[in-house]
Parts: sequence; structure tokens; C-alpha cells
Amino acid sequence: MGRWLFPILSPYMLAAACAMNAAGQSASHALVDVSIIDGTGSPAVDHQTILISDGRITGIGPSNVIEVPAAATVHDLAGRYVVPGFIDLHVHFPSDSTVHQAMLDRLLEYGVTTLLNPGARPNAGVALRTRIESGELLGPRMRTAGPIIDNAPVESGLAGWSVGVTSEAEIRREVRRQADLGVDWIKLYRRLPPDLVAAAIDEAHQLGLPVVGHMGETTWGQAARAGIDMLVHSGWGTPMDEVVNLKDPSAATVREWYHAYADATNGTRLQQLAETLGANQVTVVPTLSITQASGLGADGTLLPEFRVDLAPDTLVSDAVDWWSPGWRERHPQYDPDSDEEAELLSTVYFPGVLAIVRRYYEMGIVVGVGTDVGNSWMTPGFVYHHELGLYQDAGIPPLQILKMATYNGALALGMLADVGSIAVGKRADLVVLAQDPSSDIRRAREIEMVFLDGRVVGTKR
Ligand SMILES: [Zn+2]
Repeated sequence: MGRWLFPILSPYMLAAACAMNAAGQSASHALVDVSIIDGTGSPAVDHQTILISDGRITGIGPSNVIEVPAAATVHDLAGRYVVPGFIDLHVHFPSDSTVHQAMLDRLLEYGVTTLLNPGARPNAGVALRTRIESGELLGPRMRTAGPIIDNAPVESGLAGWSVGVTSEAEIRREVRRQADLGVDWIKLYRRLPPDLVAAAIDEAHQLGLPVVGHMGETTWGQAARAGIDMLVHSGWGTPMDEVVNLKDPSAATVREWYHAYADATNGTRLQQLAETLGANQVTVVPTLSITQASGLGADGTLLPEFRVDLAPDTLVSDAVDWWSPGWRERHPQYDPDSDEEAELLSTVYFPGVLAIVRRYYEMGIVVGVGTDVGNSWMTPGFVYHHELGLYQDAGIPPLQILKMATYNGALALGMLADVGSIAVGKRADLVVLAQDPSSDIRRAREIEMVFLDGRVVGTKR
């Protein structure tokens, strides 16, 4: 646990492990004299009191007006900011279930109270969700896919948590099999052709299941027109030729392609794709952190920024090459020996990725926040805040980033009735911040308390 000695945030004490927090388990709380940022994009409202009872928000109003029930545990939080619990739409867990609680702890400590596992290894999908729901493990509320579905034969790196299919009949059968196992989502992967993607979406929707795709053979436009609900990874690992303003992208030099990609926001093809995504109500989850790490990781200079020192030891020891600086060497779309490509990735490509994501936001696409935790360098919890910072670098206003992190996540998961904003009647998933994040989203990592379902699950004090 040595790495725990050097965090940016002080280690939190989990309520379950600390007798002093017994009061935190009481059924009712009053958060007094806080500034509320409700997650809908509205600015902060100062001097408010939030009442919590039996896991839900039961009252919100000016602190000098609202009456605090005598039974409530009072938290005097003058000067603090309260935002909805964060939603991470892309978290994987290793099969080794002894690592799960440490990962869940980190997610809660950094304010993640709801997550989507879009592609689950054995023991890390429906089984893990069940362990959280039963109270055996303390963790964010979870929605999960089953094994990812790809064209057979599956990639060797995905052995054990990927299912290969070759025909429409097979993919429909696999979707039905996963529905019977109790999954919440279907995950489609990058070597599936358009006809199989369309068949899977049709079958899933007949069963009432939404579909998330990491596309490749099938473009985002094709998947959107087939009715896919969520697309992940803007840039890295996805077919981006459809937004590049080149007559024949495959004939371009590496330099030409990267520059054309960075210029995509000035052309009509990105505009057309965004219109297709909007018309089909697709949620886009860009996963900027892993895009940044994948493209730029060759020399390891980003390691300090990703704070891998904060990852649970058990996760790191389980992960292959977690500490390796050579991410680019393991991704065939990049030439690990090319200094020119490394330079283009950091100075041309990644700024292009950010500009494209800002355009999605400007065009009203529902953008949600996901991290791809479970992969190297994606430090559970911490990387969520790194991700939020990258949206600010892209030029998206902090209050809108907060909306992406909360309201949009709940919208994408069909959970808006319960979570995603601060409103009377919703589950009391709340994050108390030391400072105002409305002018700098990086202040959202200065977390003082986390409430999950009206329980204090993480606190500094
Ligand atoms: Zn993933």
C-alpha cells in the first residue's frame, strides 16, 4: 500500500471501516449552507440546504427558510459546493475478484457513484453487479454488458471475455443468451461488419436492451443509422476516415492524414456525421484519457500526469505492462519507432481529437464521460478527473462538463428518474467539493465528502 502515501488527495476513510462515521450511516442528513450545482448546466445557487432521508433527497431550499428535522445529522458546509455523483460510462474490472473492492473504493473516493461496465470479463459483469446490489461489496451503482461480441475468431488479447460470431443467426443467438444472463447492455466490437452490427442492435432492442459499440469495420455513421445507442472512443481505435477531408484517406501519407484529421472541423464530413449521430440520438463517450495515453505513451512522459501511483497495488500487480511506457508499441496503428509520428500525435492529432469533441458538444450531441478504467494507466477514480480536465482543454465550459459527467450519463443509462441531477425525489448521490468548479473543472477533484444513496461513503474529515 506504499503508493497510498503520496496521493494528491488525502486518503479518505471509508465509512464501513471507521467507527467514527457511524453517524454517517443514519437515515437522514442535512447539508446546510451549501452552494448547489445541480448538474443540468445551471450555475451554482448559494446558501442552500439539502435534506436527505432514506436514501433520497427529500428537500432543497434556502438555508434561512428550510426546516431541518430534529433527527437529521447536520453537516455545516458553508462555502462548499455540492454536485451530483459522477457517472463513469466506461469501467472494466479484472476477472480477479479480489481486486474489485479496492477499485470500487477508489471510484467512490473520487465521486463516481454510478458506472457502466461496457464489456465484462468473467466474474466482473452481472456477478459483480449482483454483489454490489446485495451489499456484499460497497461500490457505485452499476450497469453492465456481458462479454464483448466480435467477429470470429476473437483477438488473442481478448480471450476469455470476447465471443466470436460469424453470422446473423449466431449474433442474434448470442444477444439472447446474454439477455438471459441478466446483462443491462450489449457490447459490440470493432471487427463486426455492418450487417452483423445491425442484426445485433435489432435483436437487442427487441429485448429492451441498449447497445454500446467500439466500432472498426463498421463506421460510426453506419452504426448510428442502424440505431446504436452509444459509441465509445472518439479517435483512437475507431474508423475516423469518415470525418477526414481527403478523397482517398488510405492513399495519404501519415503526415497528410494527421493534418487532414486535425482539419476535420473545417469540412462537411464531420458535420454530416454529427448530424447523423444527433438524428439517431447516439450518446458519444470520447474516452480522451486513453486516447491520449495510447497515442502519446511511447516515452512515458505522461506517466506522472496519470498518477498511476494512486492505483490499487492489487490492480497494478494484476495488469500486464501497467507500468510500461511503451503503449504505442502495442498499438499497431502507430509506428513505435517514428519520431515524426510521435510528434504528429501530440501536436496535430490529439488537438484534433479535442476539436472534434468540442464540435460534437456544440452541435448538441449527448456527450458522456467514460475512462476505460481496467486498462493500463487508467487509474480508477483519479483518471475520471483527468478526463474532465481534457474537456476543459477542448474549450467546453466547466458547467457543461459537469452536465456531461452527471445528467448526460444518467440520460444515456436511462436512469434520469433516479440520478444525474440534484432534485427532490432523486437518490441522494452527492459530492461535496471544497471549491467552486464552475470556472475550473479541475477543482472538482478537491472532494470532501461523497454520499451514495444517502450514505456517507467517503469523507476527508
Ligand atoms: Zn473499454
